[in-house]
Amino acid sequence: MMEKIKMPVPLVEMDGDEMTRILWRMIKDELLLPYIDLNTEYYDLGLEYRNETNDQVTVDAAMATKKYGVAVKCATITPNAARMEEYHLKEMWKSPNGTIRALLDGTVFRTPIIVKGIEPVVKNWKKPIAIARHAYGDVYKAAEMKIPGPGKCEMVYTAEDGSETRELIHDFAGPGIVQGMHNLEASIESFARSCFNYALDTKQDLWFATKDTISKKYDHTFKDIFQEIYDQEYAARFQEAGITYFYTLIDDAVARVIRSEGGYIWACKNYDGDVMSDMVATAFGSLAMMTSVLVSPQGYYEYEAAHGTVQRHYYKHLKGEATSTNSVATIFAWTGALRKRGELDQVPELTRFADLLEKATIDTIESGRMTKDLALMTSLENPVVETSEGFIQAVRQTLDTLL
Ligand code: NAP
Ligand code: MG
Repeated sequence: MMEKIKMPVPLVEMDGDEMTRILWRMIKDELLLPYIDLNTEYYDLGLEYRNETNDQVTVDAAMATKKYGVAVKCATITPNAARMEEYHLKEMWKSPNGTIRALLDGTVFRTPIIVKGIEPVVKNWKKPIAIARHAYGDVYKAAEMKIPGPGKCEMVYTAEDGSETRELIHDFAGPGIVQGMHNLEASIESFARSCFNYALDTKQDLWFATKDTISKKYDHTFKDIFQEIYDQEYAARFQEAGITYFYTLIDDAVARVIRSEGGYIWACKNYDGDVMSDMVATAFGSLAMMTSVLVSPQGYYEYEAAHGTVQRHYYKHLKGEATSTNSVATIFAWTGALRKRGELDQVPELTRFADLLEKATIDTIESGRMTKDLALMTSLENPVVETSEGFIQAVRQTLDTLL
């Protein structure tokens, strides 16, 4: 029996809901606890306990992430009307991801896990494309108006001293519509720093694109803030790391992304990120193979899977039926967090273990053993469909041969 890997500093562990909570336990029991003296500070973000603590547990977990720097999170239910009844909730608690993101002021990076046999629709994509979406403002916090008929529409800024600045939007000759959006320099700066930090962290080029030729003040401010922060704080470090920061127009970026082979981070404004992340995720193959990491401008990291709690599979599981739920993105959330802990605390065995567990997971799929979602889309011949447990046990077998 080999000695278990020690962790000098704890990892913040955020448990979650439904099928992913079941996978969470299996991953720990089969793939982590036999090899690591797992040192975590545990927070139960399952909906029942969030309700019991009036959601204080979510805030505490975010604060612990600030303290220790690294967290791993299971998928959680965002309550809606149906969940209010199902869980007898005191309130419709906010999305934990939203709460954590607001407290850490972070940016979410989503990256597909690439395996042979699950080919991207875009055939020249060989490496992952990580998408970073700015999560504040623009159309998501806009004020809108229907203009009923002829009249002048203006933007008015009233300064604290009462002075006004006006800008004509349109002199309407007939009915129309109008929208007012805003953003904050502080939020754009945090977004920029999170992107530059993550590029350095993963040693990948960073692309950023807006429509600054048309939006000469709004989008241009995004471009200028990124450039200033890059020049002042990151240019030298990027050069040292052998990576580049690249700005272009959004339409040019789209064309380049499609022609590229991948292997970079694409930072997007809020709306572009909403649309492009769905496009990129779909083209890479499967939501169940998409990882996600929240990076704060101070360099705190929270790793998770991009998918939800897989409710439909959970109800089957409760009825005692076998499930074939894909645990890959949740395994990679753990390996991402363990690798980061290993790097920060200089525990090379932990980093090596994270690398090996990822390799074991990929090797298992490439050997033909996979969950049903992948078996339905693989180009490999005669895939073996594993159950939820069966797949995790298969990964353990592969891991043991690698170790
Ligand atoms: P979901 O959990 O992502 O699942 C939607 C469907 O996608 C599943 O029914 C399943 O399709 C497929 N799928 C997703 N992940 C899979 C996996 N790992 N393995 C196999 N198939 C997978 O989304 P949802 O059903 O819309 O949301 C369920 C709950 O998750 C909601 O309460 C929502 O609030 C929450 N949610 C949480 C997060 C988060 O914590 N980050 C993110 C999104 C949603 P089939 O049924 O066809 O097999
Ligand atoms: Mg969307």
